[in-house]
Parts: sequence; C-alpha cells; structure tokens
Amino acid sequence: MKKRILVTGGAGFLGSHLIDRLLEQGHDIICMDNLQTGSIDNIQHNLEKILFIKHDITEPLPAIGHVDEIYNLACPASPIHYQADPVHTFKTSILGALHLLELAKQTGAKIFQASTSEIYGDPLVHPQPEHYWGHVNPIGIRSCYDEGKRGAETLFFDYARMYDIEIKIVRIFNTYGPRMDAKDGRVVSNFIVQSLQNKPLTVYGDGQQTRSFCYVDDLIEGFLRLMATPKDITGPVNLGNPNEFTMLELVEKVVKWTGNKTPLQYEPLPQDDPKQRKPMIDEAKRTLNWEPQVMLDEGLQKTIAYFKERV
Ligand code: NAD
Ligand code: UDP
Repeated sequence: MKKRILVTGGAGFLGSHLIDRLLEQGHDIICMDNLQTGSIDNIQHNLEKILFIKHDITEPLPAIGHVDEIYNLACPASPIHYQADPVHTFKTSILGALHLLELAKQTGAKIFQASTSEIYGDPLVHPQPEHYWGHVNPIGIRSCYDEGKRGAETLFFDYARMYDIEIKIVRIFNTYGPRMDAKDGRVVSNFIVQSLQNKPLTVYGDGQQTRSFCYVDDLIEGFLRLMATPKDITGPVNLGNPNEFTMLELVEKVVKWTGNKTPLQYEPLPQDDPKQRKPMIDEAKRTLNWEPQVMLDEGLQKTIAYFKERV
C-alpha cells in the first residue's frame, strides 16, 4: 500500500539512503531537513520525486497534512558537529522529538526514532544488550548528544503509554558507506580520505579502542523491517555489525583497499571517548530476522570507490 512518509534528516547520510529505499517501494516522501550537516547533493537525484521542506525541527512544524509514517533521523551524528552547538543538539533531540510525537498523535502515524549506541555511553557491559541501562557522563562534552537521545527515547515511550501511539526505536551502532560527509571527522571517512590523499592517518589515543562498523545498506534494511513489525514490537532494538575492530585494525584494512601506505599520526584521545563498542544483536535476529550481510572488507571497498570519485 502506498504511504505518505515524513523523513526528518532526509538530506543526511542515512536519511538519503532511507529515502532511496522508500521510493523504490513506491511511497510518497516528504523530506524535512535544515541542511545543518546534510546536503542537497545527497538527495539531488530524487528532488523531483519528493517534497523537500527546509525546516529546523526544534521549531514548530509547518502544516504538512496527513502522514502514515514518520522516520525521525534529524540530528547531527558526528562528535565535531554535535559539539559545535551542544544546546541546539540537545534541543534537536528533545524539542524535535516532541514536535514529531505531537504530529504522530494528531495523525495516528507510526513513528520511528533513530537512537544510538551512545545511549550506552562508555559501557561497563560488553557487548551491549538492549536491557543494559548504560554508563553515560551527564555533564561531559558528548552529553548533549547522549542525554538528548536518551531523553528522546523517554519521550517516545511516555507518548506510547499516554496516547497509545505506535513507536519504533532503533539504537544504531557506527555505520559507514557512500554519502558519509568527508569532513565530519568520523573515523572511517577520515582514514579513507587521508589515505586517498596520501596524508598521515590520524589515530586518536593508542588506537586500541574498538568499534563495530555496519554498512549502510544493512542498517536501512533493519529500519524497514522494524517499521513493518506489529504494534507491540517497539524496540529499542540494536542495529549494528557485531564484528569488532580496533582502530589500528581499521587502519590496516583501509590501507589494504586503497593501496596507499601512509604514516600514522597519533593524536590525543578525545574526552569521554568510549573504549569499546559492540552490539548484541540477538533481539534484531529474533524479532526482525535481521543480521548484517556486508562485512567490513566489502563495505570499505564500496565506500572507497565512492570517495575516490570525490577526493
Ligand atoms: P547526518 O548528519 O548525515 O544526518 C543528519 C541530518 O539531520 C542532516 O541532514 C542534518 O542537516 C539534519 N538535521 C540536524 N539537525 C536538524 C534539525 N534540528 N532540524 C532538521 N534537520 C536537522 O547523520 P547520519 O549519520 O545520517 O545520522 C542520522 C541519524 O542517525 C541521526 O539521528 C543520528 O543521531 C543517528 N545515528 C547515526 C549513526 C551513524 O553511525 N551514522 C550512529 C548512531 C545514530
Ligand atoms: N578516531 C580516530 N581517528 C580519527 C577519527 C576518530 O582514531 O581520525 C577514533 C575516535 O577517537 C573513536 C573511534 O575512532 O575512538 C570512532 O570515532 P567516530 O567519531 O567515527 O565514532 P564514535 O566515537 O562516535 O563512535
């Protein structure tokens, strides 16, 4: 059935891939984005097929009529962007969620929240299951993002309990792929771009911290599967690739696939940088029959091909 779907943050990395998939399924798409970290370039190929509204979700929403589904992806995701104006980041998560939940309440739309593994902070439980409450610094430089996303989850569940709206929450672990912003400072894009430009690769700390990297197509498949579940399945559900790598292992893989061996440049570890991060994805396997299909070597090759055309 053709649906009218609002995607906030649709001009960003993940949002633009989600719109590609939703259009393939034949839906009508409204993309709402303030272009703070996203770009029209990401949705240029779809601009004639969608309704694009430039709007900041911290402000009351413009009248857009009936929608069947809402995907809330609007929020800067990389530390340099979300720390640039932490008060605005916090407002985006909290006020933005409130505005969108009100829209869901008025229209009866199903509403999806892009939450994050940052909910778990610097985790004391490894790997992280959904029932782990996390270890988050409430007053650090990452807190505007972590606590904003935690507050948004709270609002989603309170709206579901108070107003019986249908909510779906995913906790996304580090995701990479084409259309990542080359300048947003995330490790995969940094290493690839630095390597392609024959510049030193910037390793923060000793490079022994770990992350688990999910390829974007796998992640979006998980979004769609969760959205298609019955009402009683709300999440939060972890979506990520459980294969864990140290940053030095990532260096080796990037160098292998770019073919450019450049020196390493060690830099200080940012404050509150989590030491390890790996999703437990049993819940996604059980409720969504989902698990990642694209492993790091294959995903890196696709991402390097994308950046090669642009660097
Ligand atoms: P992104 O920065 O590429 O996309 C975010 C989009 O939201 C951008 O287009 C930006 O302009 C828009 N936006 C930001 N604040 C807004 C506001 N106040 N009003 C309207 N639009 C606004 O980041 P992404 O990687 O595509 O992330 C998308 C979502 O997924 C975010 O909510 C992020 O927190 C979440 N997430 C991403 C990752 C990841 O690894 N990429 C991990 C965990 C969670
Ligand atoms: N990192 C790094 N070099 C870089 C950028 C990041 O070593 O050029 C490290 C960073 O300190 C962190 C990991 O890579 O430990 C992942 O960083 P990213 O910003 O991509 O994601 P997040 O910290 O939000 O998981």
